[in-house]
Amino acid sequence: MIIQGHEIFAPLKLKTHSVVVGSGAGGGVAAYHMAAAGLDTVVLEEGGYFQAKDFNQREEDMMPALYRGAGRQTTTDGMIYVWQGSTFGGSTVINTADATPIEAEVLHHWQQKFGLSELTEDNLAASYERVFKTLNVHRLEEKILNRNNKILLETANRLGYKAGVFNSNRKGCIGSGYCFTGCAYDAKQGTNLTYLPQASELGARIYTDVRVDRIERLFGNKYRVHGSVVERGTRRFRHPVEIDCERIIMAAGTVHTPAILKRSGFDKGLPQLGKNISLQPQIGISAVFPDSEKMTSWRGAPQSIYMNEFDDNRAEHGLGGFRMEGVGGMAGVFAQFSNSIGLDHKRMMQQYPSTHYSALLVPDQPTGTMDWEWGPDGKVKPKIQYTPSEEWKQRFRRGMKTASEFLLEAGAREVNFNSPVYGSITNGDQLSRIDDYPVEPGLVALTSAHVQGSCRIGLDANVGVVDQNLKLHNLDNIYIVDGSIMPTTASTHTMIPIMVMSDRAMHKLAHGA
Ligand SMILES: Cc1cc2nc3c(=O)[nH]c(=O)nc-3n(C[C@H](O)[C@H](O)[C@H](O)COP(=O)(O)OP(=O)(O)OC[C@H]3O[C@@H](n4cnc5c(N)ncnc54)[C@H](O)[C@@H]3O)c2cc1C
Ligand code: SF4
Repeated sequence: MIIQGHEIFAPLKLKTHSVVVGSGAGGGVAAYHMAAAGLDTVVLEEGGYFQAKDFNQREEDMMPALYRGAGRQTTTDGMIYVWQGSTFGGSTVINTADATPIEAEVLHHWQQKFGLSELTEDNLAASYERVFKTLNVHRLEEKILNRNNKILLETANRLGYKAGVFNSNRKGCIGSGYCFTGCAYDAKQGTNLTYLPQASELGARIYTDVRVDRIERLFGNKYRVHGSVVERGTRRFRHPVEIDCERIIMAAGTVHTPAILKRSGFDKGLPQLGKNISLQPQIGISAVFPDSEKMTSWRGAPQSIYMNEFDDNRAEHGLGGFRMEGVGGMAGVFAQFSNSIGLDHKRMMQQYPSTHYSALLVPDQPTGTMDWEWGPDGKVKPKIQYTPSEEWKQRFRRGMKTASEFLLEAGAREVNFNSPVYGSITNGDQLSRIDDYPVEPGLVALTSAHVQGSCRIGLDANVGVVDQNLKLHNLDNIYIVDGSIMPTTASTHTMIPIMVMSDRAMHKLAHGA
């Protein structure tokens, strides 16, 4: 059963066995496993319930409806946009459906550095199988690859660089290109179309437009969840919510899970709570090609090809180097992030059909921290503090040089990075200018779609927040199954890593193993 906030007209008081907080990648999987085990399950999702018919393919409507803070959530210094979905299905509704497993080197790194002996490829194999089957993970079909992405593969092949086509969780994709604003064709297999409807069929009650504010510990390791039914859009308070339960599964995402736990006073004895955040910052690249070379970045699967010649999986944090991935389908956002204004901007947008877009993705060390405060409107304001390390900046600039050379070799006339004070690269002689590229708030706009950490797994509370079964170290019957549990960046894309980790822990819990 799915109950939307506007269907609730009075304070909500419930009793249940398991409460799942958040309905995205981790929460969807958890809700399914709890319901499949026959446990009375309630899912609380702060965002609204939207379906294919509601996804109107307009960024100005869909970003406020589906993204946290309308897509404008940033680090406290404003330098990095931290994108997260906030809707029935969480970020799986607005992502580009690339399905990448946890990198093998990352698992080895976790075993060696953090002693996480249970998180082996063998132990995760059954979870991969279940998740891939539910999501219909397969290699992207040729017919939905666009020129914008294919040019990466062709150029890589010519240069002898490693590159490939993504696996994806789609079914019947027509290549409309609108993944970032929700799939109007029910092709993208997010939790909104898979785990959540299945959980609902099995009896779970899923409430949307209900925000969890804090958790109270009751006698005997039971809990009372305090929340608010909120108005869709403004998210203003409408009715109070109180739910008594035996078990809580946190899946509010890397930013809000630690905020809820801190608000509940559960940080005592958990020194790592809210720390060790990786943002895996990316910069958007736009490369203008001759007019005859049409990129049509707005059609086809937005992100289908990666160039991974420069991945370095021996790095200190398990995943290093940098990679390029084609990206498209967000004309408004790309225009906003461009490095030009006035007539220059007009010229740039006129060249849109022949402009290639990709993201330079640079894995990072887990150095960020997360706190929160009440905003003046009574709503929670997350404070994400993050400063990229000098080592990261060097790797980032190396990536910019390589990407520029690569795209000039592909035939681009100019290569641009998001900065209002930095001009175009038009030939190889200008590459040394990249040494001065400003990685400073106000002078560059970076994005993060893969925020992780904040409640990392560790063998004890000095190192982590949850154990290898994803149970909170200092309390019984509270689990965390979202992106916050990752000790370091899990992969270049995080949906499958989160789902697989959630599946392993929740399957074990449901079967009493
Ligand atoms: C634009 C974009 C593109 C991406 N593309 C890809 C991709 O192609 N492939 C890939 O693998 N990954 C991709 N990702 C990343 C991936 O989708 C996320 O890492 C993953 O979905 C995160 O899962 P999660 O369970 O941590 O949180 P989410 O899926 O973000 O879900 C958290 C949910 O919790 C809810 N919530 C938060 N606070 C509360 C509260 N107080 N009360 C109740 N509910 C609350 C939120 O509203 C949200 O719906 C992308 C992400 C973005 C933003
Ligand atoms: S490309 Fe279009 S049809 Fe395919 S998954 Fe994305 S939004 Fe859906």
